[in-house]
Amino acid sequence: ALSERFESAWKTLRGQDKISESNITEALREVRRALLEADVSFNVVKEFVADVQAKAQGAEVVTGVAPDQQFIKIVYDELVALMGDANEPLADANRKPTVVLMAGLQGTGKTTAAAKLALQLRKQDRSTMLVATDVYRPAAVDQLITLGKQIDVPVFEMGTDANPVDIARAGIIKAREEGVDTVIVDTAGRLQIDQDMMAELEQVKTAISPDEVLLVVDAMTGQEAATLTQTFHEQIGITGAILTKMDGDSRGGAALSIRQISGKPIKFLGIGEKVEALQPFYPDRMASRILGMGDVLTLVEKAQEEVDIADAEKLQAKILEAKFDFNDFLKQTRLMKNMGSLTGIMKLIPGMSNKLSADQLQQGEAQLRRCEAMINSMTKQEREDPDLLANSPSRRRRIAKGSGYVDKDISKLVSDFQKMRSMMKQMGQGGMPGMGGFPGM
Ligand code: GDP
Ligand code: MG
Repeated sequence: ALSERFESAWKTLRGQDKISESNITEALREVRRALLEADVSFNVVKEFVADVQAKAQGAEVVTGVAPDQQFIKIVYDELVALMGDANEPLADANRKPTVVLMAGLQGTGKTTAAAKLALQLRKQDRSTMLVATDVYRPAAVDQLITLGKQIDVPVFEMGTDANPVDIARAGIIKAREEGVDTVIVDTAGRLQIDQDMMAELEQVKTAISPDEVLLVVDAMTGQEAATLTQTFHEQIGITGAILTKMDGDSRGGAALSIRQISGKPIKFLGIGEKVEALQPFYPDRMASRILGMGDVLTLVEKAQEEVDIADAEKLQAKILEAKFDFNDFLKQTRLMKNMGSLTGIMKLIPGMSNKLSADQLQQGEAQLRRCEAMINSMTKQEREDPDLLANSPSRRRRIAKGSGYVDKDISKLVSDFQKMRSMMKQMGQGGMPGMGGFPGM
């Protein structure tokens, strides 16, 4: 019967359980897949999912939210928390100049990012100097000089014959003399991590004691980002990272790997080749991008907008005391509406879409609209106390008139509502659902 099907849909919507491995199996699989597809490294995924699962296990499922959905929300919140909650700005040292050292493999976008940062700082009225220490390719020094001209920021260079450590040191001295606010030291990279490169980078670091060591990682690096971060962090010690080439189709899983492995924040995103294409990093946006699971994420976002957890808990308490009234019913109905059509919501819930036919869902929606019309014609008092209506034919007549239905419809709504209320109470207490149905069905 429709009422039974609706009942099961309603149960799924409101949840009636604790989060357990069995009611989130599908969500777990989706989360794992999303993270791997986003190029979070395998070990980081494993660790992260296990952590979240342990944390979620046994959590009370909130009314109006399916366990799956609630679990995904926990994952999302945990992702945001792990990536640092808020944006962390670039260091701004008390003792000037602030020294920023760029690190990373060749071709990741260090030189470009150095110029992008310099431009942002200049716009914030923080005077800046770029230092060219990539002496291995003449073109690298020229590249920085060209970029410097373009953004109107001075570039300190000593050609390609000098030693990177000497250049870096001389650059800082010059910047200090000139009262520059921030010095950004660009460095050479290799195509792969090698010991010479690490040794040299370490020497530069020791020579200039930077306030900030930014690891520049190409978002397209994928799984490799984990190893890369580990090596740089162990040998050099980073204070943060810039994730470049986020304008590509990378889902940015490297951000999670970087954070999980180094514990250091991603501070900026590179989103294009132009010098303006640098954005502060926002953990919540990145979590959405990483989880980007189409429908499921949309559902989480909607739920976040519409489901006030505290509200939902109050509702649950009311259900337990069988104090669920017509106002609560309306609120639930509107909440579902805000989240989209019932049909839309059911489709979003994993495993739900094929349980109810389009016809059944449409009937369900029509029924909800009928109920809503009748409730709208009730007084505040009547909504709060359905028993008032059960005992007063004249009240029922008035409502029937006001809403365009007949007495019988109102009586049925009231008696169904009372049945539903006691059924919900039983379910809320862990008992078996009784014979009741959704109002009017
Ligand atoms: P470096 O070797 O680490 O200094 O890398 P470069 O700064 O020279 O950049 C290497 C290439 O990547 C250049 O062609 C840049 O234009 C390009 N690039 C850097 N950052 C970005 C970005 O955020 N998006 C895109 N699409 N390209 C970038
Ligand atoms: Mg370079």
